[in-house]
Amino acid sequence: MLEKKSYKCDLHIHSCLSPCADLLMTPGNIIKEALKLGLDCIAITDHNAAGNVEPALKIARNTDLIVIPGMELESVEEVHLLCYFPGLAEIKEWELTVQANLPLLYNDEEVFGYQLLTDESDDYIGKEERLLATATGLSISQVVEGVSSLGGIVIPAHVDKAVNSIIGQLGFLPPELDSCIIEISRNTAPLNFFKKYPGLKNLPYLRSSDSHYLYEIGSCGEQYKGFYLEKPLF
Ligand SMILES: [Zn+2]
Ligand SMILES: [Zn+2]
Repeated sequence: MLEKKSYKCDLHIHSCLSPCADLLMTPGNIIKEALKLGLDCIAITDHNAAGNVEPALKIARNTDLIVIPGMELESVEEVHLLCYFPGLAEIKEWELTVQANLPLLYNDEEVFGYQLLTDESDDYIGKEERLLATATGLSISQVVEGVSSLGGIVIPAHVDKAVNSIIGQLGFLPPELDSCIIEISRNTAPLNFFKKYPGLKNLPYLRSSDSHYLYEIGSCGEQYKGFYLEKPLF
């Protein structure tokens, strides 16, 4: 039997492609910081986009860090859903679906911030013109179905938050997510959350940093030390 190992993970990190993230959040800087902190595994999860996942995978290739291709998708119900994929091909395919369901709005950099794409040398190579920080036209059930069909998983993000969380927006977990893993924000003690929502207390949960700045990487909540796995899922 394989011995379980504790993986220090931070599975919710925004790169400079998310308009709300700091410009220093390039994949190279994120990976450098994660390695410095001794993390085993991270995920880049930009809003409705995955353009900086490929450079992140390339930069991390010769290191011990596992990078899981991810995205923080906003559903038509304005619920943030973390979507994780087994590989680059799957997330690229998913990104096409997301792009086809983005509203026809363009980013106003002065208002929302820059949406920068990078390459494997960690240089800025362009920007995403479409507004990313907005709801897509995809429903929660379409997201679950689409991501699952590509071998990925969906984790409702920051379920304790009043806005943009599945509990805040809907007040319950729909049937397609009733046995999922949930993400609890680093600032909320899981015990307090489960006291408030005892019906959810049997669900496994994750805590991640939801980093928008380099100094936030790895701060996944007090006393949260990662989780045990026999081997990485992907
Ligand atoms: Zn969010
Ligand atoms: Zn986020």
